[in-house]
Amino acid sequence: MTSQLFASPSAGKLTNWAGNLEYSTEKQYPANSLKEVQEFVRTRKSLKVLGTRHCFNNIADTTSEFLSVKAMDHVVELDPAARTVTIESGMTYGQLCPYLDSQGWALHNMASLPHISVAGACSTATHGSGEKNGNLSTAVSAIEIVNAAGEVIKLSRSRDGDLFRGAVVGLGALGAITKVTLEIQPRFTMKQYVYENLPLSALSEHFDAIASAAYSVSLFTDWQEKRINEVWLKIRVSDEPKFDAPPEFFGAKRATHNLHPIAALSAENCTEQMGAPGPWYERLPHFRMGFTPSAGKELQSEYFVPRENAVDAILAVERLRDQVGPHLLISEIRTIAADDLWMSPCYKQPSVAIHFTWKQDWPAVKNLLPVIERELGPFHVRPHWGKLFTISPADIHARYQRLPEFLETCRKYDPHGKFRNEFLNRNIFTNKTVSP
Ligand SMILES: Cc1cc2nc3c(=O)[nH]c(=O)nc-3n(C[C@H](O)[C@H](O)[C@H](O)COP(=O)(O)OP(=O)(O)OC[C@H]3O[C@@H](n4cnc5c(N)ncnc54)[C@H](O)[C@@H]3O)c2cc1C
Repeated sequence: MTSQLFASPSAGKLTNWAGNLEYSTEKQYPANSLKEVQEFVRTRKSLKVLGTRHCFNNIADTTSEFLSVKAMDHVVELDPAARTVTIESGMTYGQLCPYLDSQGWALHNMASLPHISVAGACSTATHGSGEKNGNLSTAVSAIEIVNAAGEVIKLSRSRDGDLFRGAVVGLGALGAITKVTLEIQPRFTMKQYVYENLPLSALSEHFDAIASAAYSVSLFTDWQEKRINEVWLKIRVSDEPKFDAPPEFFGAKRATHNLHPIAALSAENCTEQMGAPGPWYERLPHFRMGFTPSAGKELQSEYFVPRENAVDAILAVERLRDQVGPHLLISEIRTIAADDLWMSPCYKQPSVAIHFTWKQDWPAVKNLLPVIERELGPFHVRPHWGKLFTISPADIHARYQRLPEFLETCRKYDPHGKFRNEFLNRNIFTNKTVSP
């Protein structure tokens, strides 16, 4: 995974969003229709579908050719009776959500940014926060995939059971997703409040109360001074009991102006805070469409631990504060509900995700990740599929009980490995035996 990661890619080359990864080819075929996708896939020996290029590792990379479905970004059908929307796979949340809202509908959750493609996000189990909220893939109720033979496969939750549950978080390994159907609900209004300086002791004593205080809760910390720097509470206005935004929240103080998760940065690119009511899609993400999300020049890693180990895992990372501090921009802690999607890090496991936004110094981060992974090892930590990690393939295999069946599904749709790449060969299709 590490060989193609560059701190400064050559000018003009095709890179991922963060610029830390120069892709291994610039050949990109832009498809405009299902027929064009089928024809391209059928006639190629090897390819990868590229989404919005927001992954930090080489999960999307290929040495052969990219298929881009960016131009396939239309709503296919909004079905109020079924409460679903079907979209083409090039669509981003930033395109979909204002449309849904304008029609009176909403999604259950969003990631920290709306800039990412729905298909790419769901393929990697991208998530937001909220202990009752599953990751974004859990909203998928049907997908259309073009398999390696160029055939159109339609899978739905109601009809295809295990086959569907194995395919939704597909890591780009099963084929080219051309349509996604998502569950929707009536549009809702939200408010966002930020609190500063939550004592770490309060978090360890009251983790459950803090994590369930709002529809979505994010905790930002630099791991210094035994405190959580910022607590972001995203509240559905219709929720009972009402959150009345007291001046203090478990010892943290209500902020007096909008904040960026990295307090030193301007909050201009952040969604509105200070309890101002607004549509769900302008409060669930931290960052606004039309602006650079997060810090920009950065790396990211993220680890999922079982919810029951949340406090122990947080304290384990906090003990590494002196090692982590110099390389960190900010960390974020979020909760995610359990799901039944085979390759989801939250498979059958209510989870807490501990996220790191790093300065863009891959050699230093590469040395630090095994230290964090060792500390979190006792909690059988699972890495975010789209972010940087060094967990061994053997440990990945040990921590995904449905992985053998996922491999069978991959072989069914892609018998000759047309959609495989270095990332998949190393982490998923590895022959390495599982460590005891
Ligand atoms: C600033 C920033 C903030 C982020 N915040 C969050 C967050 O809050 N929560 C979180 O969980 N993650 C977060 N991420 C990670 C990101 O959401 C995921 O990595 C996601 O996969 C990005 O989608 P993409 O379309 O850019 O994927 P890409 O990097 O383009 O592709 C990812 C994978 O999906 C596959 N793929 C894409 N489209 C298709 C398709 N049509 N058919 C088949 N396979 C396809 C690719 O082949 C590849 O395997 C963040 C990333 C950034 C850069």
